[in-house]
Amino acid sequence: MLKVEGLRAGYGSINILWDLSFEVNAGEVVAILGSNGAGKTTMVRAVTGMVRPTAGSVVFDGEELAKKSSRYILDRGIVQVPEGRQIFTEMTVLENLEMGAFNKATRAAFAQNLETAYRHFPKLKERAKQAAGTLSGGEQQMLAVARALIGMPRLLILDEPSLGLAPNIVDDILEVASSMAKKDNIAVLLVEQDITKALACADRGYVIENGRIALQGTAAELSANEHVKKAYLGI
Ligand code: ATP
Repeated sequence: MLKVEGLRAGYGSINILWDLSFEVNAGEVVAILGSNGAGKTTMVRAVTGMVRPTAGSVVFDGEELAKKSSRYILDRGIVQVPEGRQIFTEMTVLENLEMGAFNKATRAAFAQNLETAYRHFPKLKERAKQAAGTLSGGEQQMLAVARALIGMPRLLILDEPSLGLAPNIVDDILEVASSMAKKDNIAVLLVEQDITKALACADRGYVIENGRIALQGTAAELSANEHVKKAYLGI
């Protein structure tokens, strides 16, 4: 579904990503792993059109997206849950969810998608009229995922969903992401620093180091890899 080849991108004259190649298929969760500053967020920005790639291709459903605007890419169904959630704290939970319906198709299907979002996260239904800023951190992350779901993603990108959350809440969120992949045939790209959690949820993964793909494999292969164990899992 998404096939990235030879991707280079950076900020101004500074190059951050060096010839990244990876792919994500419908129905699978693919983890992008790496430590602070490895280039994960830059990679997400290059895929979603927030940063213009300087080389390489980003093909989604056979269409080249590397030079398209972020709005165009969003309309194709690449929906991101940004790092830090970026929910509107003064608005209610429901109003935040309404913001997820960003075009005609998603507005037309809003009622149905809202039900699906509430089924995944029943707490949000209970708190629909509450200001989003009054939710706990975990609930705010759930809201950010639910808002993305309202946007009917074909590729859902989760950028560091575990940041600042209790382990059991991270599990809940990753379980929903995994169930969206398996039941709704959505492709999920999971960008995570918490490698243990990410590999427990993902089918496959790529490790980024200094803007390059250092390793790739199935979740089981990466979990058993000596370098991954030493450098990232502390075992
Ligand atoms: P983190 O987990 O901390 O978000 P990351 O793997 O997502 O890390 P990036 O945010 O992609 O890493 O950062 C990769 C490199 O790009 C870092 O050296 C960072 O300082 C640099 N960088 C990030 N954003 C910008 C920017 N807007 N302008 C210039 N350099 C940037």
